[in-house]
Amino acid sequence: MLLPVPNTPINLDVTTMIIVGTCVTAFLGLFLLSAWAQERIRALAWWGTAYLVGGFSVAVWSIENLISPPLPFGIANALLFLACGMIWSAARIFHGRPVLWGAMAAGAAVWVAACILEDFARSIPARIILSSLIVAGYTFLTAAELWRERRKSVLRRWPAIFVPILHGTVFLVPIPLAILLPAERGIVSLASGWIAVFALETMLYVVGAAFIVLVLANERSLRMQKNAALTDELTGSLNRRGFFAAAQQLLSQQVKNRQPVSVLMFDLDQFKSINDRFGHQTGDETLKLFAAIARSTLRSSDILARFGGEEFVAILPGSLADATVAAQRVRLTFQGAAGTIAGSPVAATVSVGAASAELGADIAGLLTAADQALYRAKANGRNRVEGVEQKVPALTGREASALTGEDAAVMWHVNAQPSPAGGG
Ligand code: GH3
Ligand code: MG
Ligand code: MG
Repeated sequence: MLLPVPNTPINLDVTTMIIVGTCVTAFLGLFLLSAWAQERIRALAWWGTAYLVGGFSVAVWSIENLISPPLPFGIANALLFLACGMIWSAARIFHGRPVLWGAMAAGAAVWVAACILEDFARSIPARIILSSLIVAGYTFLTAAELWRERRKSVLRRWPAIFVPILHGTVFLVPIPLAILLPAERGIVSLASGWIAVFALETMLYVVGAAFIVLVLANERSLRMQKNAALTDELTGSLNRRGFFAAAQQLLSQQVKNRQPVSVLMFDLDQFKSINDRFGHQTGDETLKLFAAIARSTLRSSDILARFGGEEFVAILPGSLADATVAAQRVRLTFQGAAGTIAGSPVAATVSVGAASAELGADIAGLLTAADQALYRAKANGRNRVEGVEQKVPALTGREASALTGEDAAVMWHVNAQPSPAGGG
């Protein structure tokens, strides 16, 4: 690190700036830690701790000469480089990547190793070059982490990447100067002139980076809350609300392209008895197993939701024939996997009602039709798929719900599909 010389040519008092910078960094570190305590986003804890370590390293560096017995040479810089590595690690954690402990500590380790060499310890240019390289290196690594995930953010991440790149670049400036200016005197006087600029730029970086990480964290927790509001906690599938949001989108797409759309309504068979015989916990495991099987069996364009209790609904692009094939596959896979659940002979099965519309469709109408088909599947012995094809052009929700059960049976051509497995 460079030498603190008061009253630089550009009239920034270095000592004051270092004191202010250390306080600001420590304050922001505590602020990030308190944000972590609320949001529980682990990267905030790392980022905040890195700031505390960084602030502490500058404080140690400023009073190093006053301490007796003296601290090991280069220890303050090593702490600072560790802080830089921790900021990079925080950016990795933020994007769900693991901490690379060796790489995180490498800057500090290389510095400590170099300081053991007497020639290095005596050479100010060598120390400037190595410390600049380490700071710039970690800063560019941080920028690269933020750049990788830019598309997920509404911020578009350009400030998130611009701020560290600027900081890294500023820290590269002393390297050619240290190489070009031969005399130790030259670099020392340069250092005294530029140190205030570095201190100012670093302070802006510390504030800017903290601001960016808080914005990103806030955005992340909003997205998590939004997802949680649309997701069923037990099975991780969409809930009712999530279903309607996603289904409306799929439906509009299919209507616009004049393509058919189908709905499957699943209801686990004799589920009350599963709870009664094996306990609620095993009932829950059965629900989770069903959701996992349905998700992995259906295509990624299909939308699955838990509608409540032991009832699931899926909406699929495609005809009734396609949907029926998909439903049979889910039914048989579930039957195969649900023989034993959590050590109990559960032998769970599922009944499915399928409905589809060829010429434009309405979700409420499709759900009503699928529910009627499901009712038939139950009546016909369970563990089977029954289908209904909606032949009439789009019914509105109100029209559909205005129909009595009997009218509906007439309106929807009933196309019973006995299960190939021969039912329950
Ligand atoms: P059917 O074959 O006619 O569908 O019979 P069923 O027993 O599955 O139908 P019923 O609607 O009578 O029972 C549904 C049961 O689902 C009753 C309820 O206690 C249970 N249930 C609802 N939600 C949950 C849940 O989250 N976990 C567990 N374990 N059970 C649930
Ligand atoms: Mg039910
Ligand atoms: Mg049931």
